[in-house]
Amino acid sequence: MSYQLPEKLLNLTPYAPLEGVASVRLDANESPFSPPEWLREEIANSVKSIDFNRYPDPYCVSLCEKAAAFWGVQPSMLVAGNGSDELISLILSWFTNPGECAVVVSPDFSMYAFYAQSCGVRVEVFPKQQGRLDVDALTDFVQKKDARLLILSNPCNPTSLQAGREEILHLVQALPDLLVVVDEAYMDFSDGSILSDVNRFDHLILLKTCSKSIGMAAIRLGFTISHPTLAIALKAAKSPYNVNAMTQTVGEVLFSHPNYLREQCQRILRCRDMLYQGILNLSKKTQEILQVFPTCTNYVYCEMQDAKRVFSALAERGIAVRCLGNCLRICTGTEAENRILLESLADILH
Ligand SMILES: *Cc1c(COP(=O)(O)O)cnc(C)c1O
Repeated sequence: MSYQLPEKLLNLTPYAPLEGVASVRLDANESPFSPPEWLREEIANSVKSIDFNRYPDPYCVSLCEKAAAFWGVQPSMLVAGNGSDELISLILSWFTNPGECAVVVSPDFSMYAFYAQSCGVRVEVFPKQQGRLDVDALTDFVQKKDARLLILSNPCNPTSLQAGREEILHLVQALPDLLVVVDEAYMDFSDGSILSDVNRFDHLILLKTCSKSIGMAAIRLGFTISHPTLAIALKAAKSPYNVNAMTQTVGEVLFSHPNYLREQCQRILRCRDMLYQGILNLSKKTQEILQVFPTCTNYVYCEMQDAKRVFSALAERGIAVRCLGNCLRICTGTEAENRILLESLADILH
């Protein structure tokens, strides 16, 4: 054996979202609700009529029309991807050159730096203060680093905090000569989207996903929303058949039911409120929870005295959450799942 793996691959390990089995999964920010029977039926029927011997539509025309109507934008502004993950990878590899600088903020979604690394981009990390983003300081930082690209999530995964609409617009306006990517994976749970302003800029890409509020992580479907000029560039750069026919048809069914999608989101938010209140109440009774961050998303982020201990104790009880440094990120489950989580937490922290 003489083949040597490239240096950048040597220290990589496969992504392991979850170790062991968990009966309550609050670790991946998914929706706790599976689609109802009537929707499954409609999905099954649409899958049944696929021309399986043919390649899918490379541009997801019909899907993009429906999704664009849902978000109130022009279909020409959308590009569909195999999850927003694929689109993040695509953007980083085509809108930067090896050795150039991309700026990420910290804490934020770890996949940005991961994909940047895979294409040889130099990543500079702008630290937030107490989870809060100082937009003017970030603007200075990006300019000093001579960055070609800035990517961040808003609301933020994992802090669940959100920078205001005006702040984000200010940031975009202040950085006209590099690509700004704003990942709004969780914006359906909040308000403050800059969706209605996207068309004013030729250097801004928004990211949306079906994995969170829409509750369809299994189908792997995400979108970029941008000025059509950027959308055309992205369509040219992507692999031709990146979204398979089953995902396209399921997506079409979903976006044909906008009211259902909005109701789902509200239903998740009601559960999230219960979770947040429960954790907040607990924090008043124990020194072990140092801080519960306000939440703009479907999860609750809290700083702990000893996050690892609590994480492991929850795991022993079959409850999966995310442990990030000395913080826990706990996604809402159903009411019943939240009750189990809260009772277990109370027990662990007594
Ligand atoms: C979950 C998540 C996504 C969604 O990724 P998909 O590949 O569409 O499932 C994107 N960005 C952030 C910040 C997320 O937390």
